[in-house]
Amino acid sequence: MNEFMRQQRHGNIHVLRIANPPVNTLRTDVRAGLAEGLKAAAGAKAVLIIGDGRMFSAGAEMTEFGKPRVPPSLPEVFAAIAEFPGIVVAAIHGSALGGGLELALACHARVAAPGAMLGLPEVKRGFVPGAGGTQRLPRLIGAEAAMDIIVTGEPVSAERALALGFVDAVLPGDLEAEALAWTRGALEANRRFTLAANRVDRIAGQDMASFEAKAASLLKRTRGQESPRGCVEAVRAAVTLPLEQGLQKERELFAALVAGEQSKALRHIFFGEREVLRVPGLPADVKPLPVARAVVIGAGTMGGGIAMSFANHGIPVTVVERDAGALEKGIARCRANWQRTVDTGRLAAAEMERRAALLKGSTDIGIVADTDLVIEAVFEDIEVKKALFADLDRLARPGIVLASNTSTLDIDAIASATRRPELVVGMHFFSPANVMRLLEIVRGKASSAAAIATAMDVGKRIGKLSVVVGNCDGFVGNRMTGKRTPQVEKLLQEGCLPQDIDRVMEAYGMAMGPLATGDLAGLDIGAAVRRARGTVAPIADAVVAAGRFGQKTGKGWYRYDEKRTRLPDPEVERIILDTSEKLQIRRRAISDQEILERLLLPMVNEGARILEEGVAARAIDIDVVFVNGFGWPAWRGGPMFWADAQGLPAVRDKLVHYAVATGDDNLRPTDLIEKLAREGGRFSAAIA
Ligand code: NAD
Repeated sequence: MNEFMRQQRHGNIHVLRIANPPVNTLRTDVRAGLAEGLKAAAGAKAVLIIGDGRMFSAGAEMTEFGKPRVPPSLPEVFAAIAEFPGIVVAAIHGSALGGGLELALACHARVAAPGAMLGLPEVKRGFVPGAGGTQRLPRLIGAEAAMDIIVTGEPVSAERALALGFVDAVLPGDLEAEALAWTRGALEANRRFTLAANRVDRIAGQDMASFEAKAASLLKRTRGQESPRGCVEAVRAAVTLPLEQGLQKERELFAALVAGEQSKALRHIFFGEREVLRVPGLPADVKPLPVARAVVIGAGTMGGGIAMSFANHGIPVTVVERDAGALEKGIARCRANWQRTVDTGRLAAAEMERRAALLKGSTDIGIVADTDLVIEAVFEDIEVKKALFADLDRLARPGIVLASNTSTLDIDAIASATRRPELVVGMHFFSPANVMRLLEIVRGKASSAAAIATAMDVGKRIGKLSVVVGNCDGFVGNRMTGKRTPQVEKLLQEGCLPQDIDRVMEAYGMAMGPLATGDLAGLDIGAAVRRARGTVAPIADAVVAAGRFGQKTGKGWYRYDEKRTRLPDPEVERIILDTSEKLQIRRRAISDQEILERLLLPMVNEGARILEEGVAARAIDIDVVFVNGFGWPAWRGGPMFWADAQGLPAVRDKLVHYAVATGDDNLRPTDLIEKLAREGGRFSAAIA
């Protein structure tokens, strides 16, 4: 027995304890320990498998992926369970996920602590469960219920699993003691258990029309993604093929998907979301400052959402507004937001009240004297912000962090208005701030490690994913999407309509195309930015001049009916065709491939510039920004992952081509791209 498995005999029950905390991945030593433990259990009437640490098991060890398999495999361990002459019981606390749940499903019975979570999240990593989960779960709970769990990848609670029939008992109290008592009871009652593999009662006579309808409804929201389809196919095999062939089908699907680009992309993001938390240059021992409560200045669109995020996560927060009217309006908007969630059944009314009680309001900025963190979300005006930060610095306790939610302004200029520039950082939330997971943490030139660590710690506590970025106009996300905008205008001038561009981007997997997104955000904002910068976009300007500001005016790039369905609008088409004519551009048919490239390449080029400048530390930081803040599908891996997959020589050549063809200097490949293309490098391995 190795150090990853502990065993102990309690009368005729042999306890095997997985000791690979905190999450008990099923690394080779754990699988070997299970196989040996089952042998060592000879003579016992039952085996109880339980986990150390935070959970039963989080499943396969992802770092072993793609390496030569070292036996025993999980199916070999499961075969040993099936051959064990007594019963094998899994006792689940915390969670049983992926291979961890498949292990439990291969046992004769499962008991769980209250609130334990059970799930098969493989679909989210781009593949299907590969150790029999898609064959055993349907045999325990029926194909349609199993499909729900396998295709969504969402875990269910022990209580729900009990109701569905894949947990045999939920046991409050000390799990090991209770599970031992439960197993002893089962032995004394001479209870018979049938392994899932030997059952057909829940899958025999499956109505296939109903199966297909369920599959179609689950696949509706997974456009373009392969793994959910693979999951459906695997479960279909469970109801249409004998076990051995079903398992074979599952193995084939697993092998094909795991080697595919989508799964690589999903794993890139999965590991990346952990990687971004290790910030280069931040000493490992730096401690965040304690934050027990916070103040948000401004209760507008952003301030309200930011404050809600604190309250949602149990941290008392006060929003400050200029006058009672604005304050009341801001707080009412937060309440209305929560109420909508209550109305849809996703939030209990009592929980809403608990959250609402944590969110207070004030019109007295002096209250910042009594807080641990201030986040400013007032108008985007440098003079307003500088004056405010001077006040905040005077009124707030020395030593606390003052953060700004600015989208475009210079953090160093804001910090310079205070006597504590080392404690000033950007905390750039995305709209709606109570929903969007991304938080760009902007490191000013004076920002201390402790200030960055504090912002990251708070971000984590309010459910955000923090990416540390450098101080520049637009930071990472908005700066890169901004470089796409001129190509949108040019594509419209040369032959596209808004719906062509959005269709291509949505087919690629984006949650929403750039024009529909513009309509949502408001086209007047972009127009104001263009005015401020002295740039023109003849078509976009003409659309705004026609009073089309987007959804808020009922029309923008599209018109919207009363259900907010977007519809192509002949008026927009006329504006576009007229402008092309005025500019003497002969419109032509533009291929989907060209549309995609002309929208992605400018972002990649700007991403390379961002790496050169050190505004993002690594390409993965950029990809994580796009997946978490810009509706980029995780299964596409982000813009820099896309560029790596194209190959940097191809990226360079296409940039050169489009720079010439469209006269856009921004598309001239950056030095970093030239260098990587020359040296056969990749963004994912590059440090600029
Ligand atoms: P908003 O106009 O909706 O809200 C600003 C609020 O601040 C208003 O309610 C205003 O009354 C209040 N305010 C102004 N001066 C104040 C003061 N001195 N004291 C207290 N309250 C004051 O604006 P918003 O969209 O919430 O943007 C706020 C900030 O967040 C801006 O810096 C903006 O660039 C940034 N931001 C906006 C978005 C977005 O999508 N809207 C996204 C990220 C960041």
